[in-house]
Amino acid sequence: MQDAARHGLCAAGRALLAGGCEVCRGWTAGRLCADCRTRFAAPAPRCCRCALRVPAGLACCVDCQRAPPLFERCLCVADYDFPWDRLIGRFKYEQAPELALLLADCMAAAAQAAGMPSAEVLVALPLSAQRLAERGYDQAWELTRRLGRRLGVPARPRLLERRFDGQPQARLTRAQRLRNLQGAFQVPPAAVAAVQGRHLALIDDVMTTGATAHEATRALLAAGARRVDLWLVARTPVPTHEA
Ligand SMILES: [Zn+2]
Ligand SMILES: [Zn+2]
Repeated sequence: MQDAARHGLCAAGRALLAGGCEVCRGWTAGRLCADCRTRFAAPAPRCCRCALRVPAGLACCVDCQRAPPLFERCLCVADYDFPWDRLIGRFKYEQAPELALLLADCMAAAAQAAGMPSAEVLVALPLSAQRLAERGYDQAWELTRRLGRRLGVPARPRLLERRFDGQPQARLTRAQRLRNLQGAFQVPPAAVAAVQGRHLALIDDVMTTGATAHEATRALLAAGARRVDLWLVARTPVPTHEA
C-alpha cells in the first residue's frame, strides 16, 4: 500500500492491489463495492425483537408477539446466506482482520439505518476459555472493538464470561438448547458495577436459534443491566422460537 501511495495510484488502483471487493472482486475503494452492498446488505423489514424477516409494515413477528425474547431489540445486516456465510466462515476460521473491518462497518451501517437508540456499552458474546484456546481468535470481540471505534461507543472486554460450551447443539430442540446452556454465562464480580443500570449491546457474528444469545442476555440482566440489545452480522432465517 505504501508503494501505491508513492506512485500516486487512485483509490480504485489501490483497491485492485489490495484485492478489491471481497464478494465480486470488482474495483472499490472499500472492501465491499456499492453494487454488492446494495444487493446483499440492503435493509429489509425485520422483526424488531428477533430480526426475522417479516412482511413490510409488521413491527414484530408472531412468535415475538406471543413470547418476546429477553433481549429488547435485535438487528442484523442480512440473513445467513450467500455471501455472508462465506465471509463469516473466512473471518472466523482464517482470522482475516480485513473482514472484521468490513463486517463491523456493515453492522454499524445497519445500526444507523435502523435508528437504534445508541447502547452505552458494547459487549462481545464470549467464547469459553477452552474454545478460545482451540481457535486462538475471539471473532465476536474483534467485531466489537471495531464497531465501538466506528460508532464512538465504548467496547468493554471481560464484562461477560462463558463458563462452558454445553453439548454440541445441532440436533437439539430449542428447549433442549436452553437447558444445555443454563448457567453458561456469568458477569464476573469485578464487572458487575460496569453492567448495572446500563443499556448494553451484545455483539455476535451469527444467531442460529437464539438460545446462546438468550442465556447471555439472562446473565447480563441478572447482573443488573437495564436493557440488552443484540447486534449480529447475520441471522439464520428460521424463527428463533421453533422447537
Ligand atoms: Zn462487489
Ligand atoms: Zn421476532
